[in-house]
Amino acid sequence: MRNYSLETQCVQGTYKPASGQPRVLPIVQSTTYQYYDSDDMADLFDLKSAEHMYSRISNPTVTEFENKMALLEGGVGAVAASSGQAATTLAILNICNAGDHIIAASTIYGGTFNLLGVTLKKFGIEVTFVDPEATLKEIAAAGRGSTKAVFGETIGNPGLNILDFEKFGKVAKILDVPFIVDNTLATPVLCKPFEHGVDIIIHSATKYTDGHATSVGGIVIDGGSFNWDNGKFPELVEPDPSYHGISYSKDFGPAAYITKARVQLLRDFGMTLSPFSAFLFHLGLETLHLRMERHCENAFNLAKFLESHPGVQWVNYPFLESHKTYDTARKYLKGGSGILTFGIKGGAQAGKELVKHLDLTALVVHLGDLRTSILHPASTTHRQLTEEQQIKAGVSPDLIRVSVGIENIEDIMADFDHAITQVTKNI
Ligand SMILES: *Cc1c(COP(=O)(O)O)cnc(C)c1O
Repeated sequence: MRNYSLETQCVQGTYKPASGQPRVLPIVQSTTYQYYDSDDMADLFDLKSAEHMYSRISNPTVTEFENKMALLEGGVGAVAASSGQAATTLAILNICNAGDHIIAASTIYGGTFNLLGVTLKKFGIEVTFVDPEATLKEIAAAGRGSTKAVFGETIGNPGLNILDFEKFGKVAKILDVPFIVDNTLATPVLCKPFEHGVDIIIHSATKYTDGHATSVGGIVIDGGSFNWDNGKFPELVEPDPSYHGISYSKDFGPAAYITKARVQLLRDFGMTLSPFSAFLFHLGLETLHLRMERHCENAFNLAKFLESHPGVQWVNYPFLESHKTYDTARKYLKGGSGILTFGIKGGAQAGKELVKHLDLTALVVHLGDLRTSILHPASTTHRQLTEEQQIKAGVSPDLIRVSVGIENIEDIMADFDHAITQVTKNI
């Protein structure tokens, strides 16, 4: 494919029908693929052929979604998964065993914080959470001989701090381990992490990729940039006994990591994306560039509006000059994305109360939907963390998170104006 701009890639992607074939990506709702000859099938089992064998491992519709995401992010390959959480699990277990260690920013999404800090710990994988504003030296000091990855989020959820790619990338380079980034909230429209030293990208496709709140899914994308043959990742270099002796790095070159993720871990764990969900994500990507533009514009305007509202105490949005990582945001992002947080007069109680007075804006756990929605994390998504952990994760008790949709901005502002005035008028 020629070197088209991102907008064109969003619309047309990699899917190219042959003459007489459907213009729109078909849903191949088949678990199974027929072969005429056992030798052809044997080549599949030896990984000599890239044809489909069984839909736990690959499927034509899922492959098109993977190829489009790899194109948009600029990676060498991708593996879709049944959720964002499954994608993160896959990305880490592909290179970490019991006894290994990860360095992660403390401001990551609550679900990932739990996965790394609680669940993977039970598998013997240790994590050190670091303050992303700590110095390079302090973060690098968390490294151990067993460290296998450095992990962060482009836009922390819900703290909205922007990752200092340069600093975290340097830590990964010093430790000679891959730099893994969750790019869910930014999307490739706003930030291309592979251009900033990242080796592996993760998305929860459930959010902006889908954009319409229809499906749960995730994806791991390999930048193909990391040299696995450095003595730390023998499983990517030495022969794999479960594929009679292939070496991922020797046989698949820059696609070593993503090939192993598919043929070993997707095969064994089976956290596979369904073809129907892949179809919806692929459809969602066709308008991603347009939606992100409007999400950014509306969120910025709502943030400005809230900043000037007498009932509002504080507003946090990456593209507001008052934001603590504003300079980093301007350096790495084309827009501030669609998420903002704020606190109103009356604190946590007023925050909970606010929801009842909103009409257009719905209370949901989700974000990245084209409909405006709201959440009070301290009483919901982050309730399993201690207050100290909540604050570390950027969640104060009064914090309200808004996922600003693509409706008319005047209507959105009027909705918030009415609700905030109702709740704060007697304070
Ligand atoms: C939602 C989310 C996830 C988890 O994705 P699921 O699809 O819900 O499993 C991971 N990272 C970020 C930044 C998210 O917002």
